[in-house]
Amino acid sequence: MKVRYFDHAATTPVSENVLKAMIPYFTYEYGNASSLYTIGRQSKKAIEEARKKVANAIGAKQHEIYFTSCGSESDNLALKGVAYAHREKGKHIITSKIEHPAVLNSCKTLERQGFEVTYLDVDERGFVNIEQLMQSIKPTTILISIMFANNEIGTLQPIKIIGNIAKQKGILFHTDSVQAVGNVKIDVNQLNIDMLSMSAHKFYGPKGIGALYVREGVEFEKIQDGGHQERDKRAGTENVAEIVGLGEAIEEVYQNYEEYNKKLMNLREYYISETQKRIPNVKLNGDKQNRLPGNANLSFPGVNAQELLLELDQKGICASAGSACSTGQTSPSHVLTAIGLTPELAEGTLRVTFGKDNSKEDVEYLVNSLEEIINKIMNN
Ligand code: PLP
Repeated sequence: MKVRYFDHAATTPVSENVLKAMIPYFTYEYGNASSLYTIGRQSKKAIEEARKKVANAIGAKQHEIYFTSCGSESDNLALKGVAYAHREKGKHIITSKIEHPAVLNSCKTLERQGFEVTYLDVDERGFVNIEQLMQSIKPTTILISIMFANNEIGTLQPIKIIGNIAKQKGILFHTDSVQAVGNVKIDVNQLNIDMLSMSAHKFYGPKGIGALYVREGVEFEKIQDGGHQERDKRAGTENVAEIVGLGEAIEEVYQNYEEYNKKLMNLREYYISETQKRIPNVKLNGDKQNRLPGNANLSFPGVNAQELLLELDQKGICASAGSACSTGQTSPSHVLTAIGLTPELAEGTLRVTFGKDNSKEDVEYLVNSLEEIINKIMNN
């Protein structure tokens, strides 16, 4: 059966060019980047070229990019790194209720270590409350960490406004941009971003490699002891092949940005309008305009999304539910709860995220399948 993949927010396939660029570093270019002989120096050179590509993609300087093992590590390094380096100045951090667990659980750890965290509310479209942000700032606030794009509902936050507020108040601003990089054009200087997390597997690069942008002059502590790699901020022998893959992937995705963005938006709009036409009472979650180009998060009242996913899987369709299933129990997602969905509606929420290999015909197949399955569920 043909697999139709609509879960690009979970991960993306590695692009052919990316894989090609990586292969030499798994085979004959295997030198340790810290070694002084030729193949070591070649690995070092490849890393620096990738660093330049990552920096160029977001308007940063090459030495402002640190390679990590994933988006989660970048988030941990940003939050804990800033907290530990600035604890003398203050111990207050501001974030939102809809962050990824990599940020939320880093905050929980910091709270156990004596830091204070304010979790901002969001409105029904998923936007943080700017008034509440302003009111939450204290003399002890050292960091604001707000995600660029939400991984479930796709809402894009007013990053420029938040960046300006942080700058005016002299507070560092980190943004988890794991879902945004590749899908949104980002310039860290225009947006006043001090730190930014990304992860290659969300934009056709390999899994297990991420990067953290840190503005020149921003102090942060390393969170892992070991060697002096990554300018003494991230110990561990560099994963040369994957770093090369990250560099290639980010360059490729932004080279084709306009076309890619338009394609995703068209697929998304077609899917949303067809689904709403053919299935009663469908609710779109997140903002209609300010959302990730490929994200459609819909609630189907009276439907259990876990059941829906299993039925879709039978038809070769990969998508995602709005509820996390842990230890056999389905609990409503913290994001859907924060935007005010009832547990029943959250339970019937399906996230579909489009990618470069999806076609209109794929979307037709998806909508036909949804209509058929939901009719069957409703009539049971
Ligand atoms: N932040 C966001 C918003 C994400 O969507 C994800 C992954 O889904 C992460 C962080 C974690 O990234 P990684 O899977 O590379 O650890």
